[in-house]
Amino acid sequence: MIPADTPIWLALLLVSAAMTVIVAVRYFLASGLFAWATARFRPGLYDGMKPQISREIRWSMISAFIYGAPAGVVFWLWRHHDFSLLYSDWSTYPVWYLPVSVFVYLFAQDTWFYWSHRAMHAHPRLFRIAHAVHHESRPPTAWTAMSFHPIEAISGAIVVPILAFIVPIHLAMLGVVLTIATIMGVTNHMGWEMFPRRFVHSVLGRWVITASHHERHHEEYRCNFGLYFRFWDRVCGTDHGFSKRFDTAHPPVKGQTQ
Ligand SMILES: [Zn+2]
Ligand SMILES: [Zn+2]
Repeated sequence: MIPADTPIWLALLLVSAAMTVIVAVRYFLASGLFAWATARFRPGLYDGMKPQISREIRWSMISAFIYGAPAGVVFWLWRHHDFSLLYSDWSTYPVWYLPVSVFVYLFAQDTWFYWSHRAMHAHPRLFRIAHAVHHESRPPTAWTAMSFHPIEAISGAIVVPILAFIVPIHLAMLGVVLTIATIMGVTNHMGWEMFPRRFVHSVLGRWVITASHHERHHEEYRCNFGLYFRFWDRVCGTDHGFSKRFDTAHPPVKGQTQ
């Protein structure tokens, strides 16, 4: 790929630009796919929302660069200096470690998101500066997934690159983590529940966040701060259950604050 004698600054710029393009394409593919599914299964849901969707896409393109740049740096360090805990040889760690590493990455991301997200809602100034952009989407759409103010995008973009230096992960498992992040980011905002009622109300559904749960955060602001799991919301009493607008409406869990 990049010749060995390329100056470091140019190599980093090129690889970060390439990652930015990959993140942007991923966004258009995933959001475009679920926007298409929305038009197909919930026709009219995004009627009259063109100005909002255009704004969401503009913010998301800035986020693509913010997500792409550190990802590019980590990739470059791994590829040229073997300087990270990413690995590509399946025998480096036992097979059981593969799903464990995926879970550790998701849980660490979820934990950081829960507490930083909750802090942004607890401090009005911080909310106005960093998080109001995301909540301008009322209601959110499949294009809201990466619609963040740059400060919030930086907060979200640094987690996986930092983890790559702390927790070993196979490249393919990192791909699984990023795929889950992409799909859940889009579907949790698209305005309808794609999972069957049976799953949403199952034992697993009581711990995993889907659209029914995150939609309620966009309605009420003061609850349901999690990203993938309901763990911190449940432990901290901020879980208010599902959106009342959705047909999966569910009573809140015990111990909630409201
Ligand atoms: Zn959201
Ligand atoms: Zn929020």
